[in-house]
Amino acid sequence: MLQSQLPSFARKEFPKDEESYNAQVLIRAGFVEKVMAGVYAFLPLGLRVLKNIERVVREEMNALGAHEILMPVLGPKDQWQKTGRWDSLDVLFKVIARDKKEYALGPTHEEIVVPIGQKAIFSYRDLPLGLYQIQNKFRDEPRAKSGLLRGREFLMKDLYSFHANIADLESYYERALQAYKTIFTRLGLSALQVEASGGSFSKYSHEFQVLTPNGEDSIVHCSSCSFAQNREINESKAGDLCPQCNSPLLVSAGSEVGNVFQLKTKYSQPFGLSYVDEKGEQQEVQMGCYGIGISRLMGVIAEVYHDDKGLRWPIAVAPFQIHILVLEGQDESANQERLSKAQSLYTTLRAKGIEVLLDDRKNISAGQKLTESDLMGMPFRVVLSQKTGDQVEMKRRTESQAELIDFSDVERYLDTHK
Ligand code: ATP
Ligand code: MG
Repeated sequence: MLQSQLPSFARKEFPKDEESYNAQVLIRAGFVEKVMAGVYAFLPLGLRVLKNIERVVREEMNALGAHEILMPVLGPKDQWQKTGRWDSLDVLFKVIARDKKEYALGPTHEEIVVPIGQKAIFSYRDLPLGLYQIQNKFRDEPRAKSGLLRGREFLMKDLYSFHANIADLESYYERALQAYKTIFTRLGLSALQVEASGGSFSKYSHEFQVLTPNGEDSIVHCSSCSFAQNREINESKAGDLCPQCNSPLLVSAGSEVGNVFQLKTKYSQPFGLSYVDEKGEQQEVQMGCYGIGISRLMGVIAEVYHDDKGLRWPIAVAPFQIHILVLEGQDESANQERLSKAQSLYTTLRAKGIEVLLDDRKNISAGQKLTESDLMGMPFRVVLSQKTGDQVEMKRRTESQAELIDFSDVERYLDTHK
């Protein structure tokens, strides 16, 4: 992408009406715009990040054998009444139509997916079945002050699985946990697998938490083994001993990026979702559900990957891999020559499938280009200036020292520094 063609939503200052770092930096760098509290628009650069996160999640869901669908946001009241959640779910947004009929804006989709699953599930041969979607969710969140970490409208991946028996649900659940681990690792995040509820229920639900100072949850986790529980259910203090291995416990802030549940028959029952087993007998369908906060993940990545100059996107989610900057000097013909060299590098790299942003803008100071580049945070930066002559200066966003290398070595640099 030529930066001269890209609308710049970047700002000189952090927005004053945002409390959370992720929203401040993402707005300042021109990735998102706040529409109102808890509601954000994704701008060209931000949408590229969101799509990259989606792609990783989608690939792993497909690898799990799940099928992608797209359900509506607007849902019928009677289906929400069937499970009791029309009245019990405090975050449910309700919409009144002109004929006074009421609808729900989907905060999650069990009430919608079960009757859909019912259309394809008749016998044990139709199970297991995994259906997922990536779609905006709506929740009437009382405190939407954490930027992308807590939206009132936000993007979620939600997977629902249907099984003939508990054993099959449990084995699928284990595979889903593995898929989640793969997803977070691919996104460059280390996510703790946390027991969401205490006691005997704990093995039926897990959260994935990324430790970050601005996270809204409090996690009790062991300094040496994998023990981790949400503070909501575990009252331990830092320094108490781990129930699993006796090492000291730590308490850290975290953000929940994923959550998995064994629903069993909680939602299949109210809708009468059943199947005929091998013996010809009707049986209840066992279910699991598995969520990932796609837009929250973008906020979490911004919280984890930044320095005082701005964002530092991991390669897997960066909007572009390389940012090429053409810095202008006094000599117009030298500027022109530098620009053509940059353009030919741009073309060569793009032909190899590498995503490049070329800052080819005219009459913008070197200082401004460099500052904006650090703020936007592409993993690699290449600079062509008066100083670099027949070479370029290249560095990773995470390094302070650039190396002077030949044009022909840019690709090699990229490969060896990934
Ligand atoms: P939380 O405890 O943070 O309110 P939740 O447990 O209610 O989240 P789930 O119903 O498990 O959320 O939703 C699945 C995933 O969607 C969560 O793990 C989280 O990553 C994401 N998510 C939930 N609520 C929001 C929100 N308001 N804004 C952005 N992402 C969210
Ligand atoms: Mg949750």
